Amino acid sequence: MESFNYIDKVLENQKIYFESQKTKNIDFRIRQLDILKMAIEDYEDKIIKAVKLDFNKCEFETYETEIGFVLSEIKYVRNKIKRWSKSKKVKGSLLTPGSKTYIYNQPYGVSLIISPWNYPFQLCISPLIGSIIGGNCCIVKPSELSPNTSKIIKEMIKEYFEEKYICVIEGDIQINQYLLKQKFDYIFFTGSPMVGKIVMKSAADNLIPYTLELGGKSPCIVDESCDIELIAKRIVWGKLLNGGQTCIAPDYIIAHKNIKSRLIDSMIKYIEQFYTSNPLTSKDYTSVINKRHFERIVSLIDYDKVIYGGNLDTQNLKIEPTIMDNVNLEDKIMKEEIFGPLIPVMKFDNTEKLLYIIKQNPNPLALYLFTKNKKFENEILSRVSFGGGCINDTIMHITNPNAPFGGIGNSGIGNYHGKQSFDTFSHKKTVMKNLANIDIKFKYPPYTKKAYKILKIILK
Ligand code: NAD
Repeated sequence: MESFNYIDKVLENQKIYFESQKTKNIDFRIRQLDILKMAIEDYEDKIIKAVKLDFNKCEFETYETEIGFVLSEIKYVRNKIKRWSKSKKVKGSLLTPGSKTYIYNQPYGVSLIISPWNYPFQLCISPLIGSIIGGNCCIVKPSELSPNTSKIIKEMIKEYFEEKYICVIEGDIQINQYLLKQKFDYIFFTGSPMVGKIVMKSAADNLIPYTLELGGKSPCIVDESCDIELIAKRIVWGKLLNGGQTCIAPDYIIAHKNIKSRLIDSMIKYIEQFYTSNPLTSKDYTSVINKRHFERIVSLIDYDKVIYGGNLDTQNLKIEPTIMDNVNLEDKIMKEEIFGPLIPVMKFDNTEKLLYIIKQNPNPLALYLFTKNKKFENEILSRVSFGGGCINDTIMHITNPNAPFGGIGNSGIGNYHGKQSFDTFSHKKTVMKNLANIDIKFKYPPYTKKAYKILKIILK
């Protein structure tokens, strides 16, 4: 664990380095992206091993959701950063004829990134890409619950970047609390809504701008008008990816009463097709991160409602994909984000009942709707507030770099990915360049009746 003195020193040096203006140069930023890409490629095997050690995630999923994800993001932003970083000229105002107004993208300074354990590499590096393209220095604090990956991230960043530009600080909650008391210029936090509130309060103390990427209970609605086989396949994949420990995993399913039992049968078929009839032994099935979370998830199982799964491998912290049927809002599993491989299924027979269920956990990070009924689709989209989501799929909206990713209310504030990462890590500085030789006299006191009339004409 790093000492508080060390943190003070790094922060001070980063502030000085930022003032040197080097990080603002666009070619510098592009070079740093290239270095980051090189570092990740060099550390690929070590990252895969570290993530495996942390929670037994298989190589395919680690490449898909951690390494490949950020490499493709680097490629995408590298091609666009020159365009994004240009100042933008906007239309002038009537009160300043002849003036020109520009929006400049100004880096904040030194950013702090705090990330969770569930995608331990991606959720550190993806915001870091934003910090780099925004022209900021950065302190990254990975999660103490994925210590092997955190260690590798630290090693990789130390080897490829100067500490006065990017530095990884490892440590427990005490370190986070200390970091949150410092005067950073931007805070980017990913984690639970509970800790999100702590971060928001700390940011408020120093009036630091921030982004919160949080979680919540994301509903998955299945209407009667669809192809059950394909839906079941997409739900099972999205739910069990990363062992169910995905912020945008479909948390619970609300299926139309006419297709619910067919959907359950199909989900069981795909669980076994993906992970064999004994998923606990499948090499592709990820463990729960630690004993505390294992016990928390197990405590959400109501064995009277289990219709598939329920077995545990306590030694390897694996919980079988477990389907619970006839779940209702009073069940414990509906009171918190599951963040594990449990699949509670509820039913609906009319839209009002469906909306009532969803509203018990407002502003989810994601919403998934399976339907062929356009009217129903429009109604759900216009009536339910949520971070983002898919129609007829799960998870995949996060893979599109052309669109922002983030939550609303309980699931977060602000967003990132692609252009939005650049915008998140850049302050928009509006500057009007006025003419030095033309002046509108009527705006100055003493105010006359004539001036008041002119003002009313212009502003109406
Ligand atoms: P967490 O909130 O417990 O921890 C996140 C980070 O906060 C960690 O680095 C941890 O060290 C730090 N932390 C924990 N307690 C703290 C405290 N009291 N004071 C200061 N810092 C503290 O979250 P987690 O368990 O690591 O991750 C799971 C949560 O994150 C879920 O709710 C999930 O939905 C959410 N999540 C959201 C996204 C997203 O993109 N929106 C992505 C992944 C995870």
